[in-house]
Amino acid sequence: MFRLNGMNALVTGASGGIGSAIATALAGQGARVALSGSNGEKLRGFREQLMGEIGAPEHGDHVEITCDLSKSDQVEELIPATLDTLGSIDILVNNAGITRDNLGMRMKDDEWDEVIRINLESVFRLMRASAKPMMKARFGRVINITSVVGSTGNPGQMNYAAAKAGLTGMTKSFAQEVASRGITANCLAPGFIRTAMTSALDEKQTEAINARIPMGKMGSGEDIGAAATFLASREAGYITGETLHVNGGMAMLG
Ligand code: NAP
Repeated sequence: MFRLNGMNALVTGASGGIGSAIATALAGQGARVALSGSNGEKLRGFREQLMGEIGAPEHGDHVEITCDLSKSDQVEELIPATLDTLGSIDILVNNAGITRDNLGMRMKDDEWDEVIRINLESVFRLMRASAKPMMKARFGRVINITSVVGSTGNPGQMNYAAAKAGLTGMTKSFAQEVASRGITANCLAPGFIRTAMTSALDEKQTEAINARIPMGKMGSGEDIGAAATFLASREAGYITGETLHVNGGMAMLG
């Protein structure tokens, strides 16, 4: 169950904490993965690690494709480059994301613009470009990584919360447009996950966060990788326009 044999996937932000765990999980189930990020060196390092730990599926090696998602011309080239390299795109995981936190009254236009451009607009462009090949193939899985913060809000994150909430509405709209063609589009909303971002927190901050989580601990990249694998699988074909919350019970959002 949940095998991804023969499938081709594009994962953005694949060199990051959650993206690398998602790519590893998809590859572990037999998918061939195009790893994307803006830093080619980081991507190459992770690809080598993936090839060493998991190896390549029968249908070809994992590849890296550099793309700066803040540059619309580069974003427009990412799906065509993926199709050129992999031959098809069965799974699109829009995972790359940034934060530029500031209280609303102090937030600069640049901080707003950058977060919206990378976390929301680039996802629109990638979904738009992947629609045609997925429709032709009569199969597709789009997984957009949102955040618990998109549902609950968070002080200092008007830009980030707006982008993540925007992804939810955008995903539901896309899901309705393409459902009859065998394509599903869902959001995966992590709570607090142990990554480089959260390891910067001190012991006191970590304790305070853990106290807000019924499971008493932050999640791992593997928790998100497993959820993404499920949504990417053939078996999840009747689930679309949904958000799968993976947050240890921190916010039970129905
Ligand atoms: P991370 O470790 O900082 O990784 C971010 C990834 O995004 C990196 O691979 C980075 O690659 C890529 N990226 C950043 N700017 C980019 C750009 N301009 N163009 C292309 N790629 C870019 O973050 P993470 O914690 O794994 O987060 C991954 C996703 O999960 C994000 O969407 C985040 O909002 C979401 N999330 C995280 C948590 C958490 O607790 N960690 C909780 C909820 C949601 P380069 O360095 O190569 O650019």
